[in-house]
Amino acid sequence: MAKKYKGPAIGIDLGTTYSCVAVWQGQNNRAEIIHNDQGNRITPSFVAFTTDLRLIGDAAKNQAARNPDNTIFDAKRLIGRKYSDSVIQDDIQLWPFKVVAGTDDNPQIIVQYKGEEKRLCAEEISSIVLTKMREIAEKFLESSIKNAVITVPAYFNDSQRKATKDAGAIAGLNVMRIINEPTAAALAYGLQKRESNVEKRNVFIFDLGGGTFDVSLLTLKGDSFDNRMVNYLVKEFKRKHTEDISGNAKALRRLRTASEKAKRTLSFDIEAMIDIDALYQGIDFALSVSRAKFEQLNMDLFEKCLEIVKSCFSDAKMDKSSIDDVVLVGGSSRIPKVQQLLHEFFEGKELCSSINPDEAVAYGAAVQAALLSEDVKNVPNLVLQDVTPLSLGVLTYEDTMSVMIPRNTSIPVKKTKNYLTVKDYQSVVGIKVYEGESVIASENNLLGLFKLYVPRAPRDLPFQVCFTIDADGILNVSAEEESSGNKEDITITNENGRLSCEEIERMIKEAEHFKSEDMKHMEKVRSMNALDKRK
Ligand code: ADP
Ligand code: MG
Repeated sequence: MAKKYKGPAIGIDLGTTYSCVAVWQGQNNRAEIIHNDQGNRITPSFVAFTTDLRLIGDAAKNQAARNPDNTIFDAKRLIGRKYSDSVIQDDIQLWPFKVVAGTDDNPQIIVQYKGEEKRLCAEEISSIVLTKMREIAEKFLESSIKNAVITVPAYFNDSQRKATKDAGAIAGLNVMRIINEPTAAALAYGLQKRESNVEKRNVFIFDLGGGTFDVSLLTLKGDSFDNRMVNYLVKEFKRKHTEDISGNAKALRRLRTASEKAKRTLSFDIEAMIDIDALYQGIDFALSVSRAKFEQLNMDLFEKCLEIVKSCFSDAKMDKSSIDDVVLVGGSSRIPKVQQLLHEFFEGKELCSSINPDEAVAYGAAVQAALLSEDVKNVPNLVLQDVTPLSLGVLTYEDTMSVMIPRNTSIPVKKTKNYLTVKDYQSVVGIKVYEGESVIASENNLLGLFKLYVPRAPRDLPFQVCFTIDADGILNVSAEEESSGNKEDITITNENGRLSCEEIERMIKEAEHFKSEDMKHMEKVRSMNALDKRK
């Protein structure tokens, strides 16, 4: 049985664009999505730095156009990746803030805060968002909270999962477990379906968020739709006012904000207004965009989504008719055209959107958090089975990957295999750990390496390698030679350029410092307001 924790526990969907927090409420028999201080049930994953304060969530997003260099978003795209990673290199072109390569090729974000340059890693930005989500929950529950379940995309690799866990630690949270976003959504949904007494159901999770479309691995983003609208508006501006604003970063950012807002409106209304004062050289820009226009601008992207859905079925060698439920997750799955195409693809099947698509993941995380808590009452007895996103193995002779744990294996899991030395009288065996689907080891992702010393002997001396994945999907590898009793363990952590314990300690201290500075600022604002009132 899983370890149980004391005290209240929350579920956090740490999204690329928005985050959401929920808590299981035994007395109501459901999870509650907790609204933030602005009354919103989702909070932008934005952090901004100014000359005198730090802003998080809506406050940070609202001032983004005025302070683009110091307003950080998309930290989740950076987490657990190297600076030279092609995903990062592509994103950097689009980000208004500065990212550089730090030690071990780890990306570092540069901001100006209180007149000084600060360098932050992705884990720190995420930890600030997590701290905000925790505070939102603490205010609602009127108690302090330590325990949390945090979700990650299913394709997140080992280092991305660990980095997310580190972000939780920096935020002072006890991360009880990391679970996959689609699994969380299924869990939330499983709850709702419980009454209907159906034993086993095939559920298709369609997750189209802001940062990513889960199956396509980062190629299609919710903001692609915003980009199309921005380009259209630039053209319209040129047509109406004969001015080209495509080179004006500030005007483009204002258009982007307006486009995202209009896009959301178009999920409910058939028309949305764009209305921006003094967009460029004092010219006001106002026009209405119809849903039909929005669909026309994005039709190829919508069709691409469908292509990806189709390929899921062909890859899984499964027929779409075997699906009992289609669950919509992610803010962009609210787009009516996307829903219509899915509805047609599944031959008229009703799509399940009874749980709010931006809230389903946090809902499921809250259920998982409750399942891991001692004190929480009335939790449905669900068993969650997560799987490994990628195959894991070791390099054997001639660059061959020997798979220890195939992808889609249920976790937690422990596997042991026997290997033989390949050279006469070798004194050391190098163990290289990889994740990925290629049979050629070097084409996969190297997670770490270590040495096992063995007694000199003719070749074919046996030794054992053991892979253990815990419930968070985090990997530990050990190797042992029996006759000598030599045993080595891998610390993928450091060799992979992850944060060391000391670094996490330092960041926790810094986070506390940041927080006390924020508090001081709030106190100042409060007393100034009080003075104003007295006047
Ligand atoms: P992530 O998990 O990547 O942070 P979310 O699931 O929160 O993403 O989805 C955020 C995305 O959904 C953004 O691109 C946002 O513009 C989009 N979105 C939110 N609400 C709507 C809506 N009503 N219609 C269309 N798109 C929406
Ligand atoms: Mg999401």
